[in-house]
Amino acid sequence: MPRPTARTPRIAVIGGGIVGIALARALATGERGDVTVFEKERRLAVHQTGHNSGVVHAGLYYTPGSLKAELCARGRLQIRDFCLEKGLPYREVGKLVVAVDESELGALAEIERRSRENGVPDLERIDDSARLREIEPHVAGVAAVHSPHTAIVDYAAVTEALAVDARAAGADIRLGQEVTGLRIAGSTARVSTAHSEDEFDLVVACAGLQSDLVARLAGGDPSPKILPFRGEYWQLSPEANGLCRGMIYPVPDPRFPFLGVHFTRGVYDDVHLGPSAVPALAREGYSWRRISVKDTVASLAWPGAGPLLREHWYMGVDEISASLIKRRYFDKARRFVPELAMKHLVGKSAAGVRAQAWARDGSLIDDFAVDRLGPVTLIRNAPSPAATSSMAIADHVIKNYVN
Ligand SMILES: Cc1cc2nc3c(=O)[nH]c(=O)nc-3n(C[C@H](O)[C@H](O)[C@H](O)COP(=O)(O)OP(=O)(O)OC[C@H]3O[C@@H](n4cnc5c(N)ncnc54)[C@H](O)[C@@H]3O)c2cc1C
Repeated sequence: MPRPTARTPRIAVIGGGIVGIALARALATGERGDVTVFEKERRLAVHQTGHNSGVVHAGLYYTPGSLKAELCARGRLQIRDFCLEKGLPYREVGKLVVAVDESELGALAEIERRSRENGVPDLERIDDSARLREIEPHVAGVAAVHSPHTAIVDYAAVTEALAVDARAAGADIRLGQEVTGLRIAGSTARVSTAHSEDEFDLVVACAGLQSDLVARLAGGDPSPKILPFRGEYWQLSPEANGLCRGMIYPVPDPRFPFLGVHFTRGVYDDVHLGPSAVPALAREGYSWRRISVKDTVASLAWPGAGPLLREHWYMGVDEISASLIKRRYFDKARRFVPELAMKHLVGKSAAGVRAQAWARDGSLIDDFAVDRLGPVTLIRNAPSPAATSSMAIADHVIKNYVN
């Protein structure tokens, strides 16, 4: 008599950003089950993955021992090897974090300490301006740390290439299919869209800006909620193209999970400035004109709104004024590259919106966060450096949540 064979697990992934597609690829190529991806847009990588700075971070800032620190270090190497294997552009242009005056030396020392604990390769501490200018001739500052292996890629192209592998290994990637229902029934979960209703043994939600909404579909805790922060960029004129060789960053405010407006040489050799961190008036609020009354009211009614406003109102005012007044944005960047002129900022380029998890007590959650509700695994916080870390996040989810 033939021995009964175990049925192949049916696995759904919600979200066709880089995290969802890296996961679908790892599941399909690792033969973990029959994989179906649901993406509400008609293309992959339409949201955070297609609207970011393209930096492959080397792990400078993250709290040692955190998931960010661990998965960024591993993910950087995986993204590098994947790009090399697929012939995708990967440029190690390096990154300089500059202290403009003595008041920033303490925060710079903390970044250096964390970088060394996180094993950032070939990190250099710089204390003399001659060496600073050897690396970035137009920079001004009293000290810096340099990470030569911080790189730049095109994350939308990486996601498409990951999807090619996933499809070749049998994954069914369904575009234009928004998940509107996610019901847990015992050990399985039913996923519904306007087109279908299917049963899965395991569902992993990688829904970015909608991760709290998808969690609620499954009956999950409304906390953490997603607070959307728009990152606005300015394009620099061709005459300013020589102002940076790689990436030049300020020392960020350690109380805030964003890195500050920086100069980035993109993978296609364009130089841009950004991103800022402006509270967005809609989850997909790519400009001031995109307003969702529902999203905005929900944010204002969130118990964490009062504590967040009390603690960070000055930062909000500063970012909003820099969004509305070009001179304010320019002043932030000119601090560490004094040759920058107003005329070099020729126009705003496509903004991105960050999905930042926000707890009931008002705190912004710093580390990556994953929850589990029976057969449903929910990625609840995957902000930067989640693009860098995407392939390592996929491995982490499989190791800890797929069995
Ligand atoms: C301005 C900015 C700059 C950044 N810079 C960097 C950087 O330089 N380096 C770095 O490593 N990271 C960076 N990040 C962070 C990085 O882009 C994100 O962490 C990463 O892209 C997250 O990927 P994701 O797949 O989780 O989310 P997303 O790319 O947002 O994908 C989520 C997907 O889920 C889909 N979805 C949502 N709800 C549903 C539903 N109900 N049904 C079906 N589909 C659904 C959405 O349409 C979306 O396509 C930056 C982010 C921003 C915004």
